[in-house]
Amino acid sequence: MKRYNNLLEVHQDLANGSVTCRDLVHYYLDNIERKKHLNAFLEVYPDEALAKAEEIDQKLANNTAGRLAGMVLGLKDVLAYKDHPLQSSSKILTGFKSLFTATAVQRLLDEDAIVIGRQNCDEFAMGASNETSAFGPVLNEIDPTRVSGGSSGGSAVAVQADLCLASIGSDTGGSVRQPAAFCGVIGLKPTYSRISRYGLTAYASSFDQIGPITRSVDDAALLLEIMAGPDDYDSTVSRREVPAYSQLLEPEGDPKYRIGYISDTLESEGLDPEIRETIQATLQNLREEGHTVESVDFHYLDYIVPTYYILTTAEASSNLSRFDGVKYGYRSSSATDLLSMYKKSRAEGFGHEVQKRIMLGTFVLSADYYDAYYTKAQKVRRIIKEKTEELLTQFDFLIMPTTPTTAFPIGGNPIDPLAIYLADIFTVQASLAGVPAISVPVGTDKNALPIGMQILTKSFAETKLLAFSKSVTEKITTA
Ligand code: GLN
Repeated sequence: MKRYNNLLEVHQDLANGSVTCRDLVHYYLDNIERKKHLNAFLEVYPDEALAKAEEIDQKLANNTAGRLAGMVLGLKDVLAYKDHPLQSSSKILTGFKSLFTATAVQRLLDEDAIVIGRQNCDEFAMGASNETSAFGPVLNEIDPTRVSGGSSGGSAVAVQADLCLASIGSDTGGSVRQPAAFCGVIGLKPTYSRISRYGLTAYASSFDQIGPITRSVDDAALLLEIMAGPDDYDSTVSRREVPAYSQLLEPEGDPKYRIGYISDTLESEGLDPEIRETIQATLQNLREEGHTVESVDFHYLDYIVPTYYILTTAEASSNLSRFDGVKYGYRSSSATDLLSMYKKSRAEGFGHEVQKRIMLGTFVLSADYYDAYYTKAQKVRRIIKEKTEELLTQFDFLIMPTTPTTAFPIGGNPIDPLAIYLADIFTVQASLAGVPAISVPVGTDKNALPIGMQILTKSFAETKLLAFSKSVTEKITTA
């Protein structure tokens, strides 16, 4: 069977009868089996997916199928799907099954998406290489000695390696965009509050957003359109109307945009020269097409990563306090009393990185240090947010590399955890500001490893962001 790049192609073939949903599920199941070594899926649901496919084939025959008929999806293991295991790639949730389905997932199911399995990720979405998963790293298909990126590593590789048409991930500080960049696919983090977080395992609640990983901007737009919008179970979701993003990808006329790039992001020392050249060449093409492309200063880059890690670890230490071995998940067998049960269950159940972040977060929230770290970081976040928003009133888009390097070797960074944190430098700005950002593939380095370009825009301007991203990706594929 051919490799589908978007749902439109699938719909055409479903309509002309050359493929059925059942064929599609068989195709992806075969690929998952053949490429098991990539470690992208923690669990696959073959019987269920095939049964659902038959049901949808029937609906297609009766003309009653939903908009996602033929869309075979994978879910990052942080999204609740009723009666299915949910583990956040952690030992501490061993044996846990969801009692309900995440709102975003339910909306996809209501439109007849087929869920084929749950995908490996960094433990509790904390990481940038999928190496913190209790189930081991995910391998990058282009070079299996290299990381997938993270934390939605399994989700990105599943799309890269054609194990499903699209994946649903989550992005707190880059977890959809960064693995998408490492795998040569598209990753969208919507505006904070665009999509309900009900049923998403909480890491840092004032940052977390669900986002699609796809092979086409069209599919990202459609999935966003279906998942977005108010939800009675999450009062933080915006009540703004959800545009029909997927119908608005070809704007009237030939709009010329004002595009800014932060000079320090392209001049930063740690940036791989091949990434610099590729982004510069893309900016030059945009200039030649008539857009205004200007360099801007942003003096807060050095504060971005520390602010992000103070605030996210603080929120994580609180969010993860619920995992204590009492009601569900892992419980230590060597506990002697209640206190030792809490302590041992958490010490044995959480991995090293998660424990480190809980301790750091507890420290920055402790009475003696609260003002010095947490309060100060909140203030700095406000400044970063305001300055980013100010830039986004002057420019339609801000463009920067998604990552400072291409996919790095697995096990390459064991002694220097700071280096891994600093690798988040370009993705966390949008997360601190709450604005939408997308990573699109714009080239490869000399080892054929993908290079991602990130585009930011102002809150709730996803329509413009997606239309522009589509035009950028079309030019890259036709170049
Ligand atoms: N790498 C970042 C972190 O470890 C981002 C993770 C995420 O977005 N979930 O926090």
